[in-house]
Amino acid sequence: TLILGLESSCDETAAALVDSERRVLAHRVAGQEAEHRPYGGVVPEIAARAHVDRLVPIIEDVLTEAGVSLADVDAIAATAGPGLIGGVMVGLVTGKALAHAAGKPLVAVNHLEGHALSPRLTDASLAFPYLLLLVSGGHCQLLLVRGVSNYRRLATTIDDAAGEAFDKTAKLLGLGYPGGPAVERVAAGGDPRGVALPRPLVGSSEPHFSFAGLKSAVARAAASGEHSVPDLAASFQQAVVDCLVDRTRIALAACPEASAFVVAGGVAANGAIRSALTGVAARFGKPFIAPPLWLCTDNGAMIAWAGAERLAAGLTDPLSIAARPRWPLDERAEAVRGAGV
Ligand code: ATP
Ligand code: MG
Ligand code: FE
Repeated sequence: TLILGLESSCDETAAALVDSERRVLAHRVAGQEAEHRPYGGVVPEIAARAHVDRLVPIIEDVLTEAGVSLADVDAIAATAGPGLIGGVMVGLVTGKALAHAAGKPLVAVNHLEGHALSPRLTDASLAFPYLLLLVSGGHCQLLLVRGVSNYRRLATTIDDAAGEAFDKTAKLLGLGYPGGPAVERVAAGGDPRGVALPRPLVGSSEPHFSFAGLKSAVARAAASGEHSVPDLAASFQQAVVDCLVDRTRIALAACPEASAFVVAGGVAANGAIRSALTGVAARFGKPFIAPPLWLCTDNGAMIAWAGAERLAAGLTDPLSIAARPRWPLDERAEAVRGAGV
């Protein structure tokens, strides 16, 4: 079964062809760093226009590279949210048009489910349920992944996401955009104990996250003029590592049924974070699974794979389905929170 996956929820335009045997026949990602760099972050309107320019040529590229035509594809999977709504609409509408023209089913994929199931694309042995730390530009959550479309959210951030903290810290240290990789690079030359920074929520009994105070503390330390940029970057990264490790320990203790501990999302590309989390999993006797770096940041293969898993479960969508700027993986948890309970 061959799936074409489309991703356009943020600033990566991506397409991939993946089959149900976990083969990635072709995948392409076009970033938009040059367009957004002058603004120090993603400008939604510019992102949407760039997706319009790039998506169709990228789809043609992956079809050519794999040597297949649309007629050979069994379903079209497209990100339908959450994300920047203009970009999501470009990918979803393109997916609908292709599905309609080729007479193939449409699978509307939650971008977070794309990240959440991505480790199963490269690791056939990863079985449900597993504990997932989803760390990305817009999210920082601990989820028990019980199956396709079956998630229990144990924790989330009460303010900024982890990737957002990396991006804001990069900006205030003058390291530019995109921030995560820049902070990691500069941190390699700094002292992780060089600057005293807080570890928000560490030691609390619920495994939630908070990064806004940490970012403010970095801003104050930077303004004092007493520290080098590498020391600030390294100390910030270490504080994030300590928070993620502590919060993960609480969640692992609460989920003995988890078959493995898995990390996914763009921040999972960070080497210091990957190696620290390896240690936590080992202490709980769980296998540690992290997707390869190219599969951590946004890409089309994870959307195609989530599409394959949903198609196998009989989950396809009507062409009338709407794009969603917000779309929690665990809808019930969100409803409860929204009701102020
Ligand atoms: P979401 O998935 O929550 O909708 P997104 O799609 O924008 O958000 P991803 O593409 O999954 O997020 O991840 C991008 C984030 O990952 C950015 O915040 C980026 O700074 C961060 N990131 C990427 N590489 C690294 C790295 N090496 N170290 C730390 N952070 C990184
Ligand atoms: Mg991006
Ligand atoms: Fe993402």
